[in-house]
Amino acid sequence: MAFKSIIAYRSGLDVRAWPERDCAASYAQALAAIPAGGRPRLTEKPLLDRLLEITLEVASQTGRPLQIHAGFGDPDIDLVRANPLLLRSVLEDSRWAETRLVLLHMAYPYVREAAFMTAVWPQVHLDLSLALPFLGPGALFPLLEILSLAPASKLMYGSDVSALPELFALSADWARATLGEALGWLVERDGLDDTVAAAAGRAILSSNARALYGLA
Ligand SMILES: [Zn+2]
Repeated sequence: MAFKSIIAYRSGLDVRAWPERDCAASYAQALAAIPAGGRPRLTEKPLLDRLLEITLEVASQTGRPLQIHAGFGDPDIDLVRANPLLLRSVLEDSRWAETRLVLLHMAYPYVREAAFMTAVWPQVHLDLSLALPFLGPGALFPLLEILSLAPASKLMYGSDVSALPELFALSADWARATLGEALGWLVERDGLDDTVAAAAGRAILSSNARALYGLA
């Protein structure tokens, strides 16, 4: 099991430390802005940055991964602030060096950035959801780039679909086909051995997530 953050879609991934008084003022602002009987939409940056810090603390204490939405998602986002490269201060903070982070949504369109981060930061993992299935067969191209740079042991299939059960099956079918095509493309060009490609496919579709999230 894991924690998840959508801070990318509220105040952005450029998370930093704030003085306690700024966090308190930000919290008071957030409370005051809640409409009567309504649901709050938190956007106050000092408050959200502090909440992410607390989440990182708990994640590191409990050994649970933290999923972080990156790249596209909600329609009203400021996409510039959802660039996963903005997480550098979190990644370089020695307190969270062992805390496993999972970039969600293939961080699309920041696919190359995400593949690079997955390759160089031991704690970074990459979830392929939303781009799979919504790019359809076009997901082949970002997948090829990701597989060419990032370790397959840190990539995970995901769909991000919800509501209609049929969508889960369709998404899984399309993803298997596209992933198979990408791995086959690499095997044909001697980029991968075929047994290694088959093992990578199984890992991405199942065993990587089972291991990371501690699932049976
Ligand atoms: Zn999502």
